[in-house]
Amino acid sequence: MDDQFLRVAVIGAGAAGLVAAAEAAQRGASVLLIEKNSKAGVKILMSGGTRCNLTHHADPREIAEAFGHARRFLQPALGAFSPADVVQMFHQFGVPTKVESTGKVFPVSNRALHVRDALVRRASEAGVRIETALGVLALMPAAGGGWKIATAAGEIDADRVIVTAGGRSWPGCGTTGDAYAWLRGLGHTIIEPRPALVPLTGGADWMHQLSGVTVEDCLVSVIDARLQKRKTIGNRRSSFLFTHFGFSGPAAMDISGSLTAAESFNDRQVLLDLLPEWDRSRLRQWLTDRLRDGGRQRVASRLAKRLPMRLASALAQHTGADCTIAELPRNVCGRICESLKQLPLDVHGTLGFDKAEVTAGGVALGEVDPRTMQSRLAAGLYIAGEVLDVDGPIGGYNFQAAFSTGRAAGIAAAQR
Ligand SMILES: Cc1cc2nc3c(=O)[nH]c(=O)nc-3n(C[C@H](O)[C@H](O)[C@H](O)COP(=O)(O)OP(=O)(O)OC[C@H]3O[C@@H](n4cnc5c(N)ncnc54)[C@H](O)[C@@H]3O)c2cc1C
Repeated sequence: MDDQFLRVAVIGAGAAGLVAAAEAAQRGASVLLIEKNSKAGVKILMSGGTRCNLTHHADPREIAEAFGHARRFLQPALGAFSPADVVQMFHQFGVPTKVESTGKVFPVSNRALHVRDALVRRASEAGVRIETALGVLALMPAAGGGWKIATAAGEIDADRVIVTAGGRSWPGCGTTGDAYAWLRGLGHTIIEPRPALVPLTGGADWMHQLSGVTVEDCLVSVIDARLQKRKTIGNRRSSFLFTHFGFSGPAAMDISGSLTAAESFNDRQVLLDLLPEWDRSRLRQWLTDRLRDGGRQRVASRLAKRLPMRLASALAQHTGADCTIAELPRNVCGRICESLKQLPLDVHGTLGFDKAEVTAGGVALGEVDPRTMQSRLAAGLYIAGEVLDVDGPIGGYNFQAAFSTGRAAGIAAAQR
């Protein structure tokens, strides 16, 4: 690298690293972006079912709120680089976007490849040198100031380093949690990484028979089972998928983080409300209504008016309601209502980091300046993206956080 420029090394060419590198280079730094995979942005390519849900149509405050404990930390970065700014960035690089009814923002082309290519082009045009197939092994302060980065191909010197190496989820993408050890070695606290936005395992056999059935609108709640008084720890209203191993879909995955945060899955109860817009009395009324046909309709057929047929039949069987509305005993009607409003899912695990869309935990936020992403423990060290203790819900929130924190780090690292 040319000595007259500030030499900035960025470790990890994912969403955060590509933006950080471009921002630093645009401000005159000589930037090297180091990526262990043979190409940049591998996770972007597979995101959103290869459509890449690149942000969420919301204002920065709403985005920050969705990050729970990290909301305050993220506010400055999100305020400086909002979802609207992200959309503009992609428009400028030839990727028009669209907002879907859920608020998720996708490229009009529905191709994650276009998102990844735009970020790579933006970085390259800013002058970033991208070294792929180069894994970083260690990061240490240099004797005379600055940083030494150890790789299999030798050592790299830099004045400043931005760590954007991601978390531990979906390790096949290169994210194997390497940076935790380096950062711990530099004095940082690593909040125990755990899988989040991950499918859940468990459920009864009759639920597994429903593999492939989706309920478009339901409410999944996580209850603290240790307390006598029911306390809801988290909930999510969205679509839900039964699988052969348990449960998936946005509602199940979104609450997975509050389950993996517990010491034991036995401490948590997961309840499914299959008809969240109706209360019990409305449900009972609907289930027992005989006005039209004198009650000749079968219970399963009545349930199928509001639920997928396979689920309706399984629920009727499971609750002992294999009968007509007229024949439905009062107590069985109560049982169905209970199952519709509070079906216990008996979750006992998750598919783990292998299938987790994000990693919860990571670098403790109190040790990082939220405006610049500079480490409060080591000058010239910047930390951005999922390696930080931030994890948001499904819907484009996680890319938004990676872009915003990456940009903040890139700008700050290029400043003399
Ligand atoms: C299947 C899947 C689908 C997803 N879909 C969406 C979605 O649609 N919308 C959304 O908002 N979020 C989505 N996410 C989450 C999102 O991908 C991440 O939150 C985001 O990529 C985090 O960005 P990052 O730059 O911090 O880390 P990453 O994108 O994970 O990038 C980190 C990079 O660092 C590299 N690296 C790691 N260690 C080293 C090392 N030692 N040396 C050199 N390089 C290293 C890795 O190879 C990787 O390329 C999805 C995740 C998955 C797994």
